[in-house]
Amino acid sequence: ALKGKTAVITGSNSGIGLGIAWELARAGADVVLNSFTDRDEDHAIAETIAEETGVTARYIQADMSKGDDARALIEKAGACDILVNNAGIQHVAPIPEFPVEKWDAIIAINLTSAFHTTAAALPKMRAAGWGRVVNIASAHGLTASPYKSAYIAAKHGIVGLTKTTALETAEEPITANAICPGYVLTPLVEAQIPDTMKEYGMDRETVIREVMLTRQPSKQFATVEQMGGTCVFLCSDAAAQVTGTTISVDGGWTAL
Ligand code: NAD
Repeated sequence: ALKGKTAVITGSNSGIGLGIAWELARAGADVVLNSFTDRDEDHAIAETIAEETGVTARYIQADMSKGDDARALIEKAGACDILVNNAGIQHVAPIPEFPVEKWDAIIAINLTSAFHTTAAALPKMRAAGWGRVVNIASAHGLTASPYKSAYIAAKHGIVGLTKTTALETAEEPITANAICPGYVLTPLVEAQIPDTMKEYGMDRETVIREVMLTRQPSKQFATVEQMGGTCVFLCSDAAAQVTGTTISVDGGWTAL
């Protein structure tokens, strides 16, 4: 259904971004993968997707903490019909101890990069006469938790950017929406477990059950394939009038 469309997914050599790239490729879109590294294994992921799905898949190195890199990614991609702003990092610490450089990096990667890629991509979508912006926010774009100040500020920010993008494109065949995942067991979540264990003085299993999934009533992690499927829906004709909104894929978190 997405044959002939080109999707650029930031931060897609791992986790949710990679899962979204796979599902968009399975739906027929050509995909551009990205991260800040430039290793053989990064390019090999793109080759595997191309071989298994038959689409064109490329990997383009660009550091989403740098505005020029973010804009250059869209230029190097050539076409950009579908933009998925997914790159993100996390750091867990109380506000008084929160490292300033972590705050700056999280705001740059999780929020400001999406401003730059969107600014570069909208003219391409307008020229093509069709476009989809899908921002990967979080349940933490709608609610808060202690010790994640920068992440929560950035995720609430990207929900706001999504709404503005939708209004600026409202009369055009372009939509902008945010997916708000609950907990998905990816390397990003895995990496938070030790710090959260320290904050709460709990062991690994207790952190997963009592801290992470305590707010996810389903008591199950969401999957990267489910994020990919939601993104494919937002790119479909059925979603043409879905714009400026959020879709939670969070096992009931935001219903609590
Ligand atoms: P992940 O660590 O597996 O993936 C993050 C991706 O971003 C990786 O591909 C990484 O290489 C890339 N990245 C990091 N810094 C970058 C930079 N400077 N430039 C370019 N790419 C960079 O984590 P994930 O869980 O898949 O997270 C993906 C997105 O989903 C993030 O925005 C995250 O906030 C969001 N999210 C995740 C969860 C979850 O439970 N895993 C929940 C809600 C939202």
